[in-house]
Amino acid sequence: MLQQTQVAAVIPYYHEWLRRFPDFASLAHACENDVLRAWQGLGYYVRARNLHATASTVVDRYRGRFPRSVEQMQDLPGIGKYTAHAVASFAFDQPTPIVEANTARVLTRLFDFRKPIDSGAARKTLWRYAAVLIPKSSTRVYNSALIDLGALVCVAHEPKCAICPVNKFCGAKNPQLLPVRKSPAPTKRLIEKHAFVLRRGKILLEQSSSRWRGMWILPPLKPGSCKQSSLQHPVYTAIFPFTHHRVTLRVYRLRLCEVATNRQRWFPLRSLDSIPIASPHCRALRALTAAVSE
Ligand code: SF4
Repeated sequence: MLQQTQVAAVIPYYHEWLRRFPDFASLAHACENDVLRAWQGLGYYVRARNLHATASTVVDRYRGRFPRSVEQMQDLPGIGKYTAHAVASFAFDQPTPIVEANTARVLTRLFDFRKPIDSGAARKTLWRYAAVLIPKSSTRVYNSALIDLGALVCVAHEPKCAICPVNKFCGAKNPQLLPVRKSPAPTKRLIEKHAFVLRRGKILLEQSSSRWRGMWILPPLKPGSCKQSSLQHPVYTAIFPFTHHRVTLRVYRLRLCEVATNRQRWFPLRSLDSIPIASPHCRALRALTAAVSE
């Protein structure tokens, strides 16, 4: 949940998630609709799907007991090297190193590592540095301390070297210039047009097969699918970020969707709270249905 998401935003979701799915069995046996609904608002829904699939694997392959080895963990859906090592360290106190944003910054400075860190070879070097420093016991305390050092002292812009407890071991000549990164991918602008079709208290939605796979969205309007005259005035416009895209969502009120597919369904307005809807579309629906009922 915390991947690309702040702690304050995650906490209510975390508690609600554990209330709904207190163990692997309850998550494994939940339907995808309920899992996505519980995740709605956190974004990056692939994480929810992976957790769901991981719960099934843990139940089927490990009788509901989470595996202890990092190799077995990395076989589970959505669990990569960092997550496996973090679970091994924090949950099971195994002597495993971790490299994430904070520890990567500390390590590049401690070792004065000046190559761009966003390459596979550089990441391998950082993992090697992390492994060299790892103590044999109390690894979870050590890893927590390393993360806190990066978050509170060895910060990105003005590292507080004067009060840093590892100052005398640090090799950085110009710490504020580290870590080095390649230039980020330029932001791309996209305009996406969708239909708002409301009839007799029911709204037409479509189950996404791409970006928000499995979630419900307002039906997309393909170029040339509607008379241009009906697309002149959007009833709702909003901008949202998605990876390195800046997406402008434009919603048009239509009497009928001219691009009906078998992924579309009518939902009573009162049922919208119980189905998983992609957040930008959920916000659009809230604004539009409020305007209709006024
Ligand atoms: S001495 Fe400065 S650069 Fe080195 S680890 Fe401490 S805060 Fe970071």
